[in-house]
Amino acid sequence: MPTPQPRPTNTTRGGHFAVVDPATGEVFDEAPDQQPEELDAVVGRAQEAWHHWRADPAARTRALLTAADAVEAAGADLAPLLTREQGKPLAESRAEIARSAARLRYFAGLHAGPQPIADGRPVRSELRWRALGPVAAIVPWNFPLQLASAKFAPALAAGNTVVLKPSPFTPLATRLLGSVLAAALPEGVLTVVTGREPLGARLAAHPGIRHVTFTGSVPTGRAVAQGAAASLARVTLELGGNDAAILLEDVAVERIADRLFWAAFRNCGQVCMAVKRVYVPARLHAQVVEALAQRAKAVVVGAGLDPGTQLGPVNNAPQLARVERWTAQALAAGARAVAGGHRLDRPGYFFAPTILADVPPDSPVVTQEQFGPVLPVLPYRNLDEAVAAANGTGFGLGGSVWGTDLDRAEAVADRLECGTAWINHHAELSLAQPFAGIKESGVGVAGGPWGLYGNLRPFVVHRPEPGPEEECGR
Ligand code: NAD
Repeated sequence: MPTPQPRPTNTTRGGHFAVVDPATGEVFDEAPDQQPEELDAVVGRAQEAWHHWRADPAARTRALLTAADAVEAAGADLAPLLTREQGKPLAESRAEIARSAARLRYFAGLHAGPQPIADGRPVRSELRWRALGPVAAIVPWNFPLQLASAKFAPALAAGNTVVLKPSPFTPLATRLLGSVLAAALPEGVLTVVTGREPLGARLAAHPGIRHVTFTGSVPTGRAVAQGAAASLARVTLELGGNDAAILLEDVAVERIADRLFWAAFRNCGQVCMAVKRVYVPARLHAQVVEALAQRAKAVVVGAGLDPGTQLGPVNNAPQLARVERWTAQALAAGARAVAGGHRLDRPGYFFAPTILADVPPDSPVVTQEQFGPVLPVLPYRNLDEAVAAANGTGFGLGGSVWGTDLDRAEAVADRLECGTAWINHHAELSLAQPFAGIKESGVGVAGGPWGLYGNLRPFVVHRPEPGPEEECGR
């Protein structure tokens, strides 16, 4: 493919929209801006393909395993493209692709077999899990491929077909992934559509869709649920987070500092389950701030394609503006930037890794989801106060507790109001575990067998047992 020539940002050509490299701030390619009639045709093909795809579980397993191999084999092309449009270091793009292939393999091996239902009556009832139909998968820009696979792998394994829509900030690697998967799967089983809004809104509300599985922000999640209500399609929402890490009195600061730093700063802080606030006993506050600030100052920030880069740019201009605005607001309200606190003076969307102390607890950088390389570190006087602050948010995705006495740390973790709580680490997920946020962080369950069942509906066959008592319903 010839290298496209950079053009000024935000230009579009008829039927296409521009894609920007966040490491330069320049347009480097474009993607199709698909229109309603194209979406209708794609959903129509997904409906037709569903009748064959749902019929043969063994063929599905084989196709998904082939698809996993194909994704892995395409890694050398996918990874640089993902880094170019998303910004993350190349090694992290490779890890995203490996995770996507692993997820296809995991779900290829999961089956929802029939289950007998016994209640003592002379009736033979059997529960058989049935596919739903075409599934709309709508994905954000922070982990375009990994989050896409978290949706399409269970949906396909369950016997559904998928229409996948990436964020307009990161459409290219997903389009390439779509062609890789299209070559491994029967026609119409998985199709990628790209475009600016209202494409996502149209897809969520499309009458041919039976399940909308969405990852993104809380306001868009609400809009998606409202759209899907038109056809009463099932909705699974994985939304934002404002995860707190609580450090306990017995924490070994130097032992955990690297892990805690990267739990907040991986992918430039653009992780739904990143540590977004740290609560520290007042006695240890200065030491923890210093340990994190040292790391923030030492980290190698640069373009994801440059070898040695540990932290890339923020993905897009609106997100950078939000991080900049909330940091400036905190500083104006009396916070101290012990590291960073400003944009980097270079092209692209770079923000210096920032550690904030003395942050007023009502600052947006504490109460909202900053989703960037900025971490407030807040002192607490007693543990109940810290737990109340951690839980005092509309979000409920994850949380963590850090200390040497693991039983005590676990007892504190048990008090966190969220979907997943970790001890001495954060955001580690197994493919086999359920993943579900509470409160505004989500609706429904993804991951593990729960993710498979989230893409199935129960169907019960109910018949009398042969014998003298043939009536049922008594
Ligand atoms: P976003 O809500 O702006 O967009 C997400 C997707 O929805 C994109 O594909 C976008 O084009 C599409 N979209 C926009 N408007 C729509 C509409 N009206 N109807 C249907 N689709 C629409 O989110 P974002 O800025 O791309 O991603 C960041 C957010 O995603 C953060 O809040 C982050 O916490 C969240 N996130 C959550 C998880 C999780 O698993 N809980 C994982 C990753 C990211």
